[in-house]
Amino acid sequence: MTVLVFDFDGTLVDSDDALVAPFLQLGVPREQIDFGHVISEECDRLGISLDRYVELYDTSVVAPFDGIEQVVGQLDRWALCSNKHPASGRPELARLGWSPEVAMFTDAFGWRHKSLRPLLDALGVAADAVAMVGDSDADLRCAQDVGARFAWAGWNQRVQAAAPDGVVLDVPVRILDLYG
Ligand SMILES: [Mg+2]
Repeated sequence: MTVLVFDFDGTLVDSDDALVAPFLQLGVPREQIDFGHVISEECDRLGISLDRYVELYDTSVVAPFDGIEQVVGQLDRWALCSNKHPASGRPELARLGWSPEVAMFTDAFGWRHKSLRPLLDALGVAADAVAMVGDSDADLRCAQDVGARFAWAGWNQRVQAAAPDGVVLDVPVRILDLYG
């Protein structure tokens, strides 16, 4: 039985604007902001307070990418592996009404970069039973580090533009094929 492990931002939810807004409010120039980082490390890099960032982050606005909601409703075993702050991600997960078997945010990784290792332990499965879906090179590295399968969230425009090697899922319903 395959377990699907998803990145959150940019993979399941279209959250670029929500993620950028607190940075802009704290005076960070737009061109210095990009995605896929550990939020605490990114705040350090940009010279702003993590606490202020989290206070300003609006947990009420992100929406799933088109087609994701229907797929989430059909998922069998699945989990979430995110570099997001839990104070941002957990309320979003609750608002969306999604209940992954395991959801790990950056606190679960000691506030450093996420890893599939603690997820495999929590899920009680080996890496060859997991397929990770993500939108960043950091997500790909998570899968490669443990030898798990990986598929790109091709509905994310940044993934489309990058046209990466490997498996690119063009629409969310293709996610279900990963259970194979
Ligand atoms: Mg992402």
